[in-house]
Amino acid sequence: MTVRDVIIIGSGPAGYTAAVYAARAGHSPLLFEGALTAGGELMNTSEVENYPGFPEGIQGPDLMEAMKKQAERFEAELVRDDVISLDLSGETKIVVDSEEKEHQAKTVILAMGAAYKTLGLPDEERLGGRGVSYCATCDGFFFRGKEIAVVGGGDSALEEALFLTRFASKVTLVHRRDGFRAKQIMLDRAQADPKIQIDINSVVSEIHGDDKLEALTLTDTITGAARKIDAQGLFVAIGQSPRSDLVRGQVELDEKGYVVIQHPTTATSVPGVFAAGDLADPKYRQAVTAAGMGCKAAQDVGWYLGD
Ligand code: NAP
Repeated sequence: MTVRDVIIIGSGPAGYTAAVYAARAGHSPLLFEGALTAGGELMNTSEVENYPGFPEGIQGPDLMEAMKKQAERFEAELVRDDVISLDLSGETKIVVDSEEKEHQAKTVILAMGAAYKTLGLPDEERLGGRGVSYCATCDGFFFRGKEIAVVGGGDSALEEALFLTRFASKVTLVHRRDGFRAKQIMLDRAQADPKIQIDINSVVSEIHGDDKLEALTLTDTITGAARKIDAQGLFVAIGQSPRSDLVRGQVELDEKGYVVIQHPTTATSVPGVFAAGDLADPKYRQAVTAAGMGCKAAQDVGWYLGD
């Protein structure tokens, strides 16, 4: 079996950027994009206004398509498949795909990103796809003229609330305290939008509906008072968890499950294994920082291989 120089797992900005750099350096990377949607979380984003080089902004999916094409231009091998297991312990790393085929490489770049967090309410999963959603760009269209609630106080929640005003008759932003993590500019826009009502010090405590979402109970976090609101849509935007289950027990993770890297490099606790993007970044989590980490990981691979 051929032992490749590098296998990259994950197809967000970190994975594709690592592929561009590794391919241009002559390392013929194999990149597992994931079986369902390639492109990572930016595929669920609308307008990206802060990726440098796009003064007018760019749609998240368009940015990812461009990154993918750039990796292909340098003949990175992109595979639309999941990795189901890994053995990172030896000098040669073993990567197993969904058909249980083994691939071998001298190095691996982990770039699996992070997944949406859920509220953990009893009816949340049951009504998933029937009113409960984690992606406004994917599902917002289905809520034309409807009343929607968005949960969270970060940039994601504010971005989703603003985006959903295109479709909804009313958007209630539900946040558990009175301070926001979101950037002030996003908060200013939401406060100025006549369709958005901001409910601070509130949590969604119950989700109601038989076949589809009909109403929510909101509970005041200070007084404990509960009230029911009509809602046909609930968009949960309360952050993400790193997708590190695949490597749990093999590389060092922090208490939240992020892969620990040896700053300023992208080296993990295992020689020859590097990590980039949201999987290894609990702090910045931006497309541009993920891309930067992907670039660093590919260069770290080059140095490890003795370039
Ligand atoms: P975040 O900044 O971690 O915010 C998560 C929000 O959800 C917080 O307000 C948090 O409340 C709330 N929350 C967490 N768990 C909750 C629960 N169980 N119930 C109710 N509320 C809960 O996450 P994010 O908004 O996804 O942003 C992540 C990163 O991506 C940030 O660095 C952000 O700047 C970036 N981002 C940037 C853009 C942009 O620039 N356009 C867009 C999206 C995301 P507390 O505040 O009380 O903890």
